[in-house]
Amino acid sequence: MGQQLKKAPFDIDKLIRDNVKNMKPYSSARDEFISQEGDMVYIDANENPFDNGLNRYPDPHQRAVKKVLSINKEISVDQILLGNGSDEVLDLIFRAFCEPNVDNVITMPPTYGMYGVLAATNAIANKDVLLLPNFEIDVDQVLQVVNEQTKLIFICSPNNPTGNSLEMGRIEILLNEFNGIVVIDEAYIDFAASESWVVRLSEFPNLIVTQTLSKAYGLAAIRLGICYASKTIVDVLKKIKPPYNVNELTQKQALDKLSKMTMVQNEINEILAHRTYLVNELAQVSCIKHIYKSDANFILVKVDDANLRYVQLLQQGIVVRNRSSQPLCDNTLRLTVGKQEENEKLIDALKNLI
Ligand SMILES: *Cc1c(COP(=O)(O)O)cnc(C)c1O
Repeated sequence: MGQQLKKAPFDIDKLIRDNVKNMKPYSSARDEFISQEGDMVYIDANENPFDNGLNRYPDPHQRAVKKVLSINKEISVDQILLGNGSDEVLDLIFRAFCEPNVDNVITMPPTYGMYGVLAATNAIANKDVLLLPNFEIDVDQVLQVVNEQTKLIFICSPNNPTGNSLEMGRIEILLNEFNGIVVIDEAYIDFAASESWVVRLSEFPNLIVTQTLSKAYGLAAIRLGICYASKTIVDVLKKIKPPYNVNELTQKQALDKLSKMTMVQNEINEILAHRTYLVNELAQVSCIKHIYKSDANFILVKVDDANLRYVQLLQQGIVVRNRSSQPLCDNTLRLTVGKQEENEKLIDALKNLI
């Protein structure tokens, strides 16, 4: 039974890999000098001097973007780290805290496949603890499986592919009992009725919350992932972050979108209305046996024969995600909420399947 269980006080030094603890971060030219004044001569970074808007390296600290996020989320800039998608943020977390071929992490299938991929890439054992049949966390089993080498527990809420937000009380138990880091992936939080865990960061020194501009913000192509955590944790991740991991075009597009929050919220509201429409219509489709409750922009449904229905939909030009290979997800399809005409096309196709 786990020695990584409480309750000595949380000690980040016990979690950081030695090589990371001992290293100094790379200091880029723009780290050493960045000025707001326009009339400086910059001949420190071997850039091309001819101005085309992109000839200079981007701000390695993404100050402008972080400032807006910091205001929106009412959190200190020091508690924000940005990455090339949340996938990069998750990878940095592995590399900072998990010693290859020694440490392990816990994930809870059915869930986002990337945690397992990153574990494998980093040579970290991935202990699967299945969600319960109602897709809630099996807290006892998770705590049972924790050992001295367990560094991270990944929680996806709302969970992909099931769509539900995970019960707060169960997550609180893990945050309180586990002496490693609990990562809560909130890629879909903007669609959820439940509140973000970002507001509880001050209560839990071992909490990391990740978010992304890829879903509700409609910017999957620019690759911007966000990590919120204590300054202590963010400082560790900053040490190993590639200096220019968020490019200039991405920072510009993110800033632009973050200045249009009314538009973002309107799109979210519209997607939520379409989700309700879909749930109501899906209930009348005979091949659908169950519609799982969704707090996200997709709906998981159980059908009579997922492989058959998948192919039939494909033949009508509709691509859905067959999740049947995931545990607890026999014969399920995951349907992303689309535009109204797309949703109608889907419903129409489903109703006509034989
Ligand atoms: C889509 C998704 C992400 C987003 O990853 P990005 O790299 O930011 O695009 C993260 N986590 C989950 C669970 C997702 O479904």
